[in-house]
Amino acid sequence: MKRFGLLGYPVKHSFSAAMHNAAFKELGIDARYELFEIRPKELQQAFKQLVKEGVCGFNVTIPHKEDIISSLDQIHPEAELIGAVNTIKVEEDRTTKGFNTDGPGFITHLTEVVGVNPQGKRISILGAGGAAKAVSVQLAKSGAKSIALFDIDQNKAEDLAAKLKDNFANCEIDLKSSADTLLEPQPDILINATPIGMHKDDELVFNPELFYAQLIIYDLIYNPVETFLLQEAKRKGCRGIFNGLGMLLYQGALALKIWLDLEPPIKVMDEALRKALAKQCKI
Ligand code: NAP
Repeated sequence: MKRFGLLGYPVKHSFSAAMHNAAFKELGIDARYELFEIRPKELQQAFKQLVKEGVCGFNVTIPHKEDIISSLDQIHPEAELIGAVNTIKVEEDRTTKGFNTDGPGFITHLTEVVGVNPQGKRISILGAGGAAKAVSVQLAKSGAKSIALFDIDQNKAEDLAAKLKDNFANCEIDLKSSADTLLEPQPDILINATPIGMHKDDELVFNPELFYAQLIIYDLIYNPVETFLLQEAKRKGCRGIFNGLGMLLYQGALALKIWLDLEPPIKVMDEALRKALAKQCKI
């Protein structure tokens, strides 16, 4: 039996096992996806041991996406640019290669499911952490006209802005001074790439009076399925309102393709995700 799994701490709330095990079953593959809860200081040793035991592929989540890089033999150029790995393929000779499918997962969902091509679009992103890096690199690569950024940690926003400017000369990069100024001038798409909205007592960081009908709001959070941000966007009649479930699905599908070189069974993976989410859903 082939083994795959998720490296993180904690991992018990993850939906990845449900999604990937459903895909293996559908594809008729004798494989199992496990949750490897590894403390940060044990990461290097534990990863080495799991590779030695024959695990064929990994996903990587918080807090290991950056620290795992030093344990890999190779890294895909895009994952290197982002500075984070969420997928690892272990080759037959036990060498390891890191990828980042978060950004491509987001773009695949945006273009193929939502039906929005980022080319020429003005994008605003709240947050400049791991998810914002992955998403902004893909948006710039896909021809976004401009990307505006705001993070409460100004250094993080400045670092990401510098990285984007250095690598994507045709995309205007704008550093903003507050969440609300991300809506001036009016972007086509507003993305929440912070954890604000995951908890019931989180407060809305935007003034919803600034939302408008043509705005598309994409919240990378998928649990709860409708954050306060998305509820307010709905109330204001924004034309597109999306949570992070599509990104989660497509980053998983792309990881599966990397591991097995097979077409992922999207419908089955989507159903498994939604079922697992419904069991645990907060609202
Ligand atoms: P992260 O690395 O911690 O980045 C979040 C960033 O947002 C941090 O720099 C944080 O600053 C900043 N921030 C926090 N509160 C803010 C506020 N009020 N205004 C502006 N910036 C603020 O987290 P991440 O890994 O990027 O994840 C971000 C979100 O995306 C999470 O909710 C995660 O669940 C979601 N996500 C979804 C998917 C998916 O597949 N759908 C994939 C990856 C991530 P401080 O560090 O100073 O707090």
